[in-house]
Amino acid sequence: MAARQSLTEYRRRRDFSKTAEPKGDTGGETSARPSFVVQIHDASALHFDFRLEVDGVLKSWAIPKGPSSDPHDKRLAMPTEDHPLEYREFEGVIESGEYGAGTVIVWDEGTYRNLSTDRHDEPVPLADALEHGHASFWLNGRKLHGGYALTRIRADRGGEREAWLLVKHADERASAHGTPDPWRARSARSGHTLKQVAASGGETS
Ligand code: MN
Repeated sequence: MAARQSLTEYRRRRDFSKTAEPKGDTGGETSARPSFVVQIHDASALHFDFRLEVDGVLKSWAIPKGPSSDPHDKRLAMPTEDHPLEYREFEGVIESGEYGAGTVIVWDEGTYRNLSTDRHDEPVPLADALEHGHASFWLNGRKLHGGYALTRIRADRGGEREAWLLVKHADERASAHGTPDPWRARSARSGHTLKQVAASGGETS
């Protein structure tokens, strides 16, 4: 199954005897109400991880500044390997020496509706839209709401990494709030900050 195959890179990078991150043995179905998650990851460089459920996996981008609710902000989004669906619940500490070492909190979570269309205004499956380099979707999160677009601005070639932009649609859910301070932000699941999760060693339940 394509979804499982796409987790090869995810698994190759991790030692599951050392990290509490999910291995991703379940899932693979297509949901009627696909999910999204935004995690804050205090890795070597702090960033937000934006993930959309597509065909049974979480398509993922690292966003250094995080998503913004302001349509004037164009947020650089660097694609990362597909993650298993269970990763949307992951919050904790990836121990030092392991891939992605650092603290992770679930900053926002919810469902989304695909808004992607072709030039004849016909709906396009999200996987196809991403393949073509432009996807639109409506987020129903606890923090993020409304339409957003992901657009590929650079292909992966000549040693340059593929790059995308995440931009808020100018709709009724747009606002000038921009992005929260990641250090003060609280988990949508536990209410904890990065520092609290780090201090507990990831035992936050
Ligand atoms: Mn990350």
